Amino acid sequence: MATGTGTAMDRPSGAQRIYNFGAGPATMPVEVLERAQAELVNWHQAGLSVMEMSHRGTEFVAIAAQAEAKLRKLLAVPATHEVLFLQGGATLQFAGVPMNLLRGKKKADYVNTGEWSKKAISEAKKFCEVNVAASSEDRNFTYAPKQSTWKLSKDAAYVHYCSNETIGGVEFHWTPETGDVPLVADMSSHILSKPLDVSKYGLIYAGAQKNIGPAGLVLVIARADLLGEVVAGTPNVMNYKLQSDADSMLNTPPTFSVYLAGLTFDWLLARGGLEGIAKVNAHKAALLYDYLDGQDFYSNPVDREDRSLMNVPFRLRDDKHDAKFLELAEARGLSQLKGHRSVGGMRASIYNAMPVEGVEALVAFMQEFARAHA
Ligand SMILES: *Cc1c(COP(=O)(O)O)cnc(C)c1O
Repeated sequence: MATGTGTAMDRPSGAQRIYNFGAGPATMPVEVLERAQAELVNWHQAGLSVMEMSHRGTEFVAIAAQAEAKLRKLLAVPATHEVLFLQGGATLQFAGVPMNLLRGKKKADYVNTGEWSKKAISEAKKFCEVNVAASSEDRNFTYAPKQSTWKLSKDAAYVHYCSNETIGGVEFHWTPETGDVPLVADMSSHILSKPLDVSKYGLIYAGAQKNIGPAGLVLVIARADLLGEVVAGTPNVMNYKLQSDADSMLNTPPTFSVYLAGLTFDWLLARGGLEGIAKVNAHKAALLYDYLDGQDFYSNPVDREDRSLMNVPFRLRDDKHDAKFLELAEARGLSQLKGHRSVGGMRASIYNAMPVEGVEALVAFMQEFARAHA
């Protein structure tokens, strides 16, 4: 698979591609890449590539408007919420959230469930007092703390949590209740993996490079009535209200990433939308977790009810086999399985674009490797 002699450019479309289990930038649907390839040099007979279009021209304005419309359809985004296509990744929104949502208040509640929560918390501390309302640090971030344990503050401007911890492989399969206090979620690594009730959220953000498209783009969905009052000194491009008024084009947007996101939304709509992809995702995750649970060569540390359907960390019984496992996997075209440096072991990210066959190939390889090294 990964051993072809030609360069990627020589290969037949789609053929000889590896199965990329990387956490992000992640695998994209091959149908999306092929369509982009077909349209690359001369988009819809316009005589130029999307990359070369003016972001103010009729063609690109239509591409961006259609991307938003398709996303609204997929997620059934209510009219109360604005959809923004911004830059700076999820990391910049760690600051953007307090800048835009404190609205004169001095405190925010955060739930700490792992590496990404911790980063969001440390950035928020630059802008306000952070109350850590719940944490799973006591058991090394291997579960989602039950709502009954959350200690929310009455005067918080918002409640923030990471609904899928990409590194630890912990996913909230329920929506927290925060009363009148707006709920904010970092959904970078599982947005569009299943249906979502957007109306329950004050704000959702997600970097594109996991389930939406290429890096360089971040999606923000925010309740319009929360926007407009920013922390003093907030740059205009970080002001969600100004961006919303300018259709996310206060400055030059990441045009090609927006276009590819739109193609990914088409791909999802053609597969039965989020209900359709959720069935496939549940099937893929079950293949891997059922295998993990049925043997003792590999293990996954996460509480069963909180396991991520997108990011599956696992360890080998003896980490002396790790290097060999990765080497043999790579030779089979099963790529980027190394776990994050903070947790070690392995991690298989099985986002929307990972085909069922990729997970089947991984499980078959894991079985074989376990037999040979038990
Ligand atoms: C990948 C990721 C981020 C960081 O995204 P950047 O685009 O690199 O800023 C933040 N949160 C979560 C949950 C992620 O998976």
